[in-house]
Amino acid sequence: MKRRITIALFTLLAAMALLLPMLLGVQLAQREANRREHRQLQAYADTAAQLAQRITVQATTALFEMARIPYERCSPGYMTQMRRITFTYPDVRDAGAQDGQVRLCSALLGPEGLRKQRFPEPDWRGHNGFDAWSDVPNPFGSRHKVMLLGFQGNYVSLDPASYVDLADPGMRHVAVFNTETSHVFAASPGADTQQMLDAFHNGNHLPDRDHVFASRITGIGPLAVVASMPRGQMLVAWRPLLLGGLAAGLVSGTLLAWLVLRLLSQRLSLAGQLQQALQQHEFTVHYQPIVELASGRCVGAEALVRWQQDQQLISPDLFIPLAESTGQITAITDQVLETVLAELGSHLVSQPALYVSINVCAADLRTTRFLQVITRGLAGTGIRPAQIRIEATERGFLDAEAASNTIAAFRAAGHPVYIDDFGTGYSSLSYLQNFRVDVLKIDKSFVDTIGQDAASSSVASHIVAMAHTLQLQVVAEGIEHAAQAQYLQERGAQYGQGWLFARAMPAAGFLRYLSQGTTAQATPPPGT
Ligand code: C2E
Ligand code: MG
Ligand code: MG
Repeated sequence: MKRRITIALFTLLAAMALLLPMLLGVQLAQREANRREHRQLQAYADTAAQLAQRITVQATTALFEMARIPYERCSPGYMTQMRRITFTYPDVRDAGAQDGQVRLCSALLGPEGLRKQRFPEPDWRGHNGFDAWSDVPNPFGSRHKVMLLGFQGNYVSLDPASYVDLADPGMRHVAVFNTETSHVFAASPGADTQQMLDAFHNGNHLPDRDHVFASRITGIGPLAVVASMPRGQMLVAWRPLLLGGLAAGLVSGTLLAWLVLRLLSQRLSLAGQLQQALQQHEFTVHYQPIVELASGRCVGAEALVRWQQDQQLISPDLFIPLAESTGQITAITDQVLETVLAELGSHLVSQPALYVSINVCAADLRTTRFLQVITRGLAGTGIRPAQIRIEATERGFLDAEAASNTIAAFRAAGHPVYIDDFGTGYSSLSYLQNFRVDVLKIDKSFVDTIGQDAASSSVASHIVAMAHTLQLQVVAEGIEHAAQAQYLQERGAQYGQGWLFARAMPAAGFLRYLSQGTTAQATPPPGT
């Protein structure tokens, strides 16, 4: 079941590893295409604004010039000047004089102003004396409307279409309008001028997701331009970007997915090998003597699991965490006990003071399952419960209530309980308060610093002192030097374990070690 969940999880992870970079690539390509689209539209709006500026500057310059003409309006001299002006300023289609709403004369219409045509009220009056008329009927009767700009009794006639006369291969629209009146006086054919005005007033943002907008204020009078284009116009440019993004996503995604799948196969294979090792009893146990520091005699041993695979010894530090995550650890604990009883059982019966401590994991502390396994294993063997001891690390105490009950059950059944690697967790002291145990195993890291100047060098002696106060016994782990053993003994640590005395060894070696050394006396085990 766990294996199936792992496969499902990793497959999901691999699929995500493949898809996410691709999606990211597409997203980035789209964002880049949008950015380019905006930039191009802004450049187009700039060009439109420059054109509007140019036409308006020509018209106003012409009007200023006209205001300075010394001849009487509509006189022959004046008319000559009008013709000169329409010739000089190409954007000015006609120039003439006007009185109120009556067209008096112009370069194109002659001195009679085509019999003094009338034109409507100006639709804009500037503060600086300028008037503007848009959509004025064409004096020649054509449907093509004109616009006029007037100043001090003179006017120029402009073609609104020239304001939007921009060569554009794209489907971009432009509209030129008066910001004070919001009147659009020129727009490219097909432009949705109302939508463009709304976009201008909305800072170029509209709920309409189909168009992009860019606007510019020309700086000449109340003149502004808005450019718009349907979104996705950049599709041509976006396609190579999309392909690039997809390709980059595909490459990195494939790489990631490959890594995830490799990890899965490694994990599955190690977990699979672990399962096979369990079925074929490939685990062996080595025993590391625990000695009484005062006398140097061996009082017991710690059972340390070993996995011999193809002539290679795999460290428990490598496979125990994996076995914990796959749930195979409880089967390993059972096999360790089974091996201990098979290899040392008769010796334990003949040496009732000798003991073996077994490392248990969090799962073993959650229930009394392992206690039942021990009880069944010991039944009828003559081995005393106190000869099988339990080493629990603080990792096993996370489910505090369950662990506390299980520890109490072990102790009630006569199995002393040790806190292993004491002092390395974050809550060692609080565990002491909440869990009743028999022995503290001082972690090797605190033994290593003995005699050094390091701040932690005196931690070991403090743990010993505290253990005394709490009436707990102490085993110091990882003693490698005689000075460490002496220091610990002087401070009251009763037991030690480490390479100074002996390394962990197979059962035969341990039995030889026992027969050579001082045999343990039948002293009551700690905590009983
Ligand atoms: P641990 O229970 O703290 O075991 C002590 C570790 O320190 C052992 O490593 C031992 O070989 C090593 N050691 C002892 N004296 C010295 C010394 O003087 N110097 C040095 N450098 N090392 C020393 P090992 O056997 O590699 O085990 C590592 C850890 O794996 C154990 O730490 C224990 O947490 C876990 N482990 C081992 N066997 C079992 C088992 O059967 N079940 C469970 N759940 N965990 C186990
Ligand atoms: Mg241990
Ligand atoms: Mg330890």
